[in-house]
Amino acid sequence: MEKKGTLEINSISLEALERDFVEMEIPKYRAAQVFRWIHKYAAASFSDLKNIPGTLQTAPAAHFYISELTPMAERTSADGTVKYLFGLFDGQTVETVLIPEEDRVTVCVSTQVGCAMGCSFCATGHAGFVRNLSSGEIAKQVEYINKSSQVTNIVFMGMGEPLLNYGAVIGAIRLLNCEAGIGLGLRRFTISTCGIVPRIYQLADEQGQVGLAVSLHAADDQKRRQIMPIAEKYPLEELMAACRYHVRKTRRRITFEYVLIADFNDGLDDAAVLARLLAGLNCHVNLIPVNPVGGTCQRPDSKVVQCFARYLSQHSIPTTIRRERGLDIEAACGQLKQAAREVAHENTRSD
Ligand code: SAH
Ligand code: SF4
Repeated sequence: MEKKGTLEINSISLEALERDFVEMEIPKYRAAQVFRWIHKYAAASFSDLKNIPGTLQTAPAAHFYISELTPMAERTSADGTVKYLFGLFDGQTVETVLIPEEDRVTVCVSTQVGCAMGCSFCATGHAGFVRNLSSGEIAKQVEYINKSSQVTNIVFMGMGEPLLNYGAVIGAIRLLNCEAGIGLGLRRFTISTCGIVPRIYQLADEQGQVGLAVSLHAADDQKRRQIMPIAEKYPLEELMAACRYHVRKTRRRITFEYVLIADFNDGLDDAAVLARLLAGLNCHVNLIPVNPVGGTCQRPDSKVVQCFARYLSQHSIPTTIRRERGLDIEAACGQLKQAAREVAHENTRSD
């Protein structure tokens, strides 16, 4: 791949690109044209930039490089969900999932290679942290998919903890929001976090339009600590105070994700503690029957899931059960990568 320049052009905002172009003695208005090729058409190389003077291919190529995002595997589920495995410039890989529905097309993007949070039920957590993605690498996952399916919503629910890569995630939102690129409205983005308290306050203060989903998974500290190490650092009292602040400040409803694990957090006593914790808060609970990875936990019976949901609804907590999407293609966080690694491992063994 071409990599002559040293600056990653995909991570640069339109305003900064305009300044760079002026310094390079290229007319300022050309920056928007190049930005459009990079972001709207997900150009893979400067020679892809068409209908512009040749100097606009050669001059930027000397200063910048285009982020690499090479599709390495793609699996389509019977329900239309598509899961991509993308290769990055340094040989690392990330997963992205496309979820087409009647009225929207959602892309679930990764924000880090791996994750340092180590949640016990999560395949990404098991793999550990490798590195942060850049804004350009995050945005390009959407831009690549947008070439063939017009994307309407973005959820930061792929690999990684978005609020531990705050700057790059907000940078990616700005790139995707820019009219010269895809131009997605800020309210179409949702950040999912395991609960990095100071960053929740920061989001509330700085990014009021962006939606927030908080991975709760247990409504008491003792249980939460058993499956989410971050709960040691930020106990529920602090997390809930940050969530209440977010709702007050943004006037937006917050989503709580609750992974249901059989015989661990799926009882009506757990539902009762959860209902008490969330009482009076403008929120919505999304129940996710766990996708068992590595045989460490089991998915509850669907009747148990229904009972849990009914209890919350009866106690005035709006609740939905996440529709099973892409189960046949292992669409849960980190699983395709794990499957790909296993395939690679099998291949190596059979060599
Ligand atoms: N790090 C962020 C965002 C990525 S994970 C977070 O934790 O919120 C996105 C969602 O997938 C989280 O709610 C996470 O708890 C959930 N998840 C992870 N592993 C899962 C599994 N095996 N089954 C079901 N949901 C899972
Ligand atoms: Fe990281 Fe989220 Fe997985 Fe926890 S659930 S390990 S925070 S990606």
